[in-house]
Amino acid sequence: MSDAESPTNPTLTPDAQTDDFEAVDVFAESTDMDLRPGADNCYKCTACDVSCPVAEVDDEFPGPKFQGPEQWRLKRKDDAAVDDSIMSCSNCMRCDDACPSGVPLSQMHNTARGEYVDEEMDKLSREYVRNRILANYGTLAQLGSMFPRLTNAVMGNSLVQQINEKVLGITAERDFPEFATQTFREWWNERGGPQVRSEEKRVAYFHGCYSNYNTPEVGKAMVRVFESFGYEVVVPKQRCSGTPMFANGMLDDAKRAAGINVENFAGLIPEGYDIIASCTSCSMSLRQEYPELFDIDGIEDLSAHTYEALEYLRIHEDLESEIREASVSDQSFAYHAPCHGRNQGLDRQAVELFRELDGVNIEDVGDSCSGISGTYGWKEEKYDKSMQIGADMFDHMEHAEGNVGMTECPTCSMQMEHGTGYDIKHPLQLLEEALV
Ligand code: SF4
Ligand code: SF4
Repeated sequence: MSDAESPTNPTLTPDAQTDDFEAVDVFAESTDMDLRPGADNCYKCTACDVSCPVAEVDDEFPGPKFQGPEQWRLKRKDDAAVDDSIMSCSNCMRCDDACPSGVPLSQMHNTARGEYVDEEMDKLSREYVRNRILANYGTLAQLGSMFPRLTNAVMGNSLVQQINEKVLGITAERDFPEFATQTFREWWNERGGPQVRSEEKRVAYFHGCYSNYNTPEVGKAMVRVFESFGYEVVVPKQRCSGTPMFANGMLDDAKRAAGINVENFAGLIPEGYDIIASCTSCSMSLRQEYPELFDIDGIEDLSAHTYEALEYLRIHEDLESEIREASVSDQSFAYHAPCHGRNQGLDRQAVELFRELDGVNIEDVGDSCSGISGTYGWKEEKYDKSMQIGADMFDHMEHAEGNVGMTECPTCSMQMEHGTGYDIKHPLQLLEEALV
C-alpha cells in the first residue's frame, strides 16, 4: 500500500460538505450561535494587548481586546459591522495564551475576520485577490511543483518579484520558497509506502503543504524516525490544514479543506492510528481551530488524537534516554519556539531534549514572535512591521553561539533565514541524525 486508504467517514453529514460557514455555539447560554456571551468573561485586564506583537509595532492596530470582546459587545448592542482592522491581526494566537480569563480570543478573531471578508470586502479588490492567493498556497504549490525548476527560476526572477509586488501586493523583499524537485508524496510512493507494519504502534502523518512541496527532507526525517521506533506510518490524502485560510478570513476554503482532512484522518482513529504533524501550525489547526470553528462529524475525535511529532515521541517513547545515549558531530543551534508551538505548550521541548545530546549546543533565542506569522509578512504593506516584530529574534540569534537556526514552523524558518542568513533545521532532522 503506497498510500493509506482514504476511508470515507459514513458519519460525515451533508452539512459538513457544504461551503457555508457557521460559527459554532461554544457557550451553552448562547441562543444565537455566536460568541457574544463569551465577551462577558473579559474583565479588561489588557494582558492580551500587552502580548500582541502587532499592536507593539502598528499604532493603528487596536489590539486583541478590541478585536475580540469589545467588538462582540458592540455587536450585541447593535448589529455593527466588523471593523476592518481585524485584517491586521496576524493570527499568531499569542493573545489566547495571555488571557487569564479564558476568553476565546483567536476564535473570536477568526470568526470576525470570516464575517468581514464575506460581508465587507470587495471581492474584486487587490487585497482580496492577493489574500486568496496567499491563503491557498497549497493549490499554487501543487501547480508550481509540477515543473519545479522552471517555477523556481521564474519566481526567483527579480522582475517577476517586482511585478508581484506592484500588481498583487506580495512583497518583493522576500525570496519565494523553492520547490523541491521531488515532493514528499512522490518520494513516499516511490519507496512503496510504509516499511514497518504494526498493530500496536500506528500513526497517520499530516505533512501539510510545506513539507510536501518545499522541504520533503522534514517529512522523510519524520517517517524514518518513527519507523526506527517501530511505528507503522501511513500518509492519507490531505489538503492544507487551513492555517493561512483562517489568517485571511477565507473560512469557506478552510471548511472545504477541513472536511476532506477530517474524513481522511478521523476514519483511521478506530483502527488505532494517532495523527502526527511536523508543523506546529498544522497541529494547532487540527487540534484547536477545527473544533472551534467547524461542526463536522469526527472533528472532536481528530482534535483529541492529534499531536506534534516530537511531543508524541516524548509521550510514548523514552526519547530522553535514547538521546542521552546518542551523539552527533559538534554543532550549535539557535532555537526559536513558534507562537503556535508555544500555544500548545511545546516551546521548551526541543531545547530540553537536545541539550542532552552529545555534540550539540542549543540555545533558546527567547519568547518573541518571529514576525512573519504565515502570510502576514508576505504582504507588501506589512513587510516592514513583520521585520520590526522579528528584530528581537534576529538579535538574539546573532548573539547565540550557534549559527544554524532551529524551529518547527516553516514560515518562522523563512523569517529566521531572511533576517540572519542562517541555515535552518527542523528538530526532526537532528533527531534523524542522532537516532537513525
Ligand atoms: S492573534 Fe496575535 S496579532 Fe492577532 S490580536 Fe492576538 S496577539 Fe495580536
Ligand atoms: S486578557 Fe482576557 S480578560 Fe484580559 S482584557 Fe484580554 S480578553 Fe479581557
